[in-house]
Amino acid sequence: PVVTRIAPSPTGDMHIGTARTALFSWLYARGRGGKFLLRIEDTDRVRSTDSATQGILDGMAWLGLDYDGEAVSQFERAERHAEVAREMLEMGKAYKCFSTQDEIEAFREEARAKKESTLFRSPWRDADPSSYPDMPYVIRVKAPREGVTVVKDRVQGDVTFKNDQLDDMILLRSDGTPTYMLAVVVDDQDMGVTHVIRGDDHLANAARQMMIYEAMGWPVPVYAHIPLIFGPDGKKMSKRHGAVGVKEYQAMGYPAAGMRNYLARLGWSHGDDEFFTDAQAQAWFDLDGINKAPARFDTKKLENICGQHIAIMADAEILSEIEGYLAAAGEPALTSQQKERLGAALDCVKGSSKTYPQLIEKAHFALVSRPVDMDEKAEKQLGSVSNGILEELTPHLQSASWERDALEEAVGRVMEAMELGFGKVAGPLRSALAGRAVTPSVLDMMLVLGREESLARIGDFMR
Ligand code: GLU
Repeated sequence: PVVTRIAPSPTGDMHIGTARTALFSWLYARGRGGKFLLRIEDTDRVRSTDSATQGILDGMAWLGLDYDGEAVSQFERAERHAEVAREMLEMGKAYKCFSTQDEIEAFREEARAKKESTLFRSPWRDADPSSYPDMPYVIRVKAPREGVTVVKDRVQGDVTFKNDQLDDMILLRSDGTPTYMLAVVVDDQDMGVTHVIRGDDHLANAARQMMIYEAMGWPVPVYAHIPLIFGPDGKKMSKRHGAVGVKEYQAMGYPAAGMRNYLARLGWSHGDDEFFTDAQAQAWFDLDGINKAPARFDTKKLENICGQHIAIMADAEILSEIEGYLAAAGEPALTSQQKERLGAALDCVKGSSKTYPQLIEKAHFALVSRPVDMDEKAEKQLGSVSNGILEELTPHLQSASWERDALEEAVGRVMEAMELGFGKVAGPLRSALAGRAVTPSVLDMMLVLGREESLARIGDFMR
């Protein structure tokens, strides 16, 4: 059975690249009836924060990337990591190194002077335990010095590292705490991870981590190191390019389904398919479809895909995502009346919105309450042409059954009686209903607002 994981370090805002790695891992597992796990790599006590951990949990929840079981804290497993380091020591796969920082620095300086490799070669590697001093020590892996280590990567192909360029990395620090290199291997092994999908900045780490797998006789997981996300200028995506935090994307009002679709396409492809559902993505996703070249983030594409998703999403999902969006953006929450009217308005606004702020803008008429504020254009339209129109319209609307045909007929009668075109009648009506000159159709708005509210808004502006 396939087991994948996402293993973010909680040291800052959840990056969009982490979200994509999580998504790939989730798709791979979900499409194969496997498991997808979350491990918070909080081993670095200085840089890890609770708020960053919360940001990861929130980001995963927003993106709908459900994981199996509980989130695992790497730090809480430190004792287990130390146990593995001691096991390696007993098997002669690791050794105690008593070299001090000063000695290591001196070694490097000498190597630099002699123009030799500055990789530290510990004098304790083959020392006899009887010669051990009573001093603090670190535990280092006894790395092979000859030959090569080949990372068989599903994206990068076979990548060869010369062993004489890998050092005896530290497994356990002198204070007994594990290094990241050790922790990640022990955790992946203990959690039964079969496939490690992560950024290609970890490729060289894979070669070093393989030494631990091999020393312990554990099976090496399948590796897939994916190219990082680049900005439009072809450089690694960073704050310079705009938003990189997952929460920022939620706060900009992108639907999670569109985000998943776009992120899946960012570095992975399935023929020419740009738009797809989660079910399709899960069925289609495969490591073979991951591109070796870095993908460039393209906000236009993201928005187009998001628009297509909003158009087909269920109303309840849109409404609950809008509540999440407003909270993430620091906007006030909707009242229950706003929620109800927005729900009724979705049909006439969701087809043409790429983001939730766009949708909310279109649904403005449903969210405002009386007396409706006029923008400049609406004011003008109402002031210059409304003479008598709203007054003429009111009794026709009052006697109409509140259905599309009847409302259309009422407007038609006024057009006839006053010898005016549709626009001339609809203009002031639109202004009175919405306070804006650009809105969904007046019929749609009246149907969403209902008889009482529509007539009241019109009454507010009769002069
Ligand atoms: N904690 C690492 C990171 O945030 C991920 C390590 C891994 O996926 O193996 O980059």
